[in-house]
Amino acid sequence: MRKDMRSHCFAEDSPLKEPRVGGSVWPRQCCPVFTPRAAALPEERACWYCKYADFHLKERTSLDVGICCWPKKQID
Ligand code: SF4
Repeated sequence: MRKDMRSHCFAEDSPLKEPRVGGSVWPRQCCPVFTPRAAALPEERACWYCKYADFHLKERTSLDVGICCWPKKQID
């Protein structure tokens, strides 16, 4: 039997009902208080582009899984 991957629910894509304060967030997740970084395009609504996420974007190597630091901004 062939599986339809589009209907598969991956944890790293699942939307969040609220900020996961101090917890791990995947780049493609998102919650209702998402606030885009200045460099984000309007359609880029995901933790990876959120001001409150810490993916070590200013370090040499970014993290695959970030940390939600809401309400403390990590990057503008
Ligand atoms: S990083 Fe931003 S979008 Fe992701 S859970 Fe935290 S506040 Fe919400």
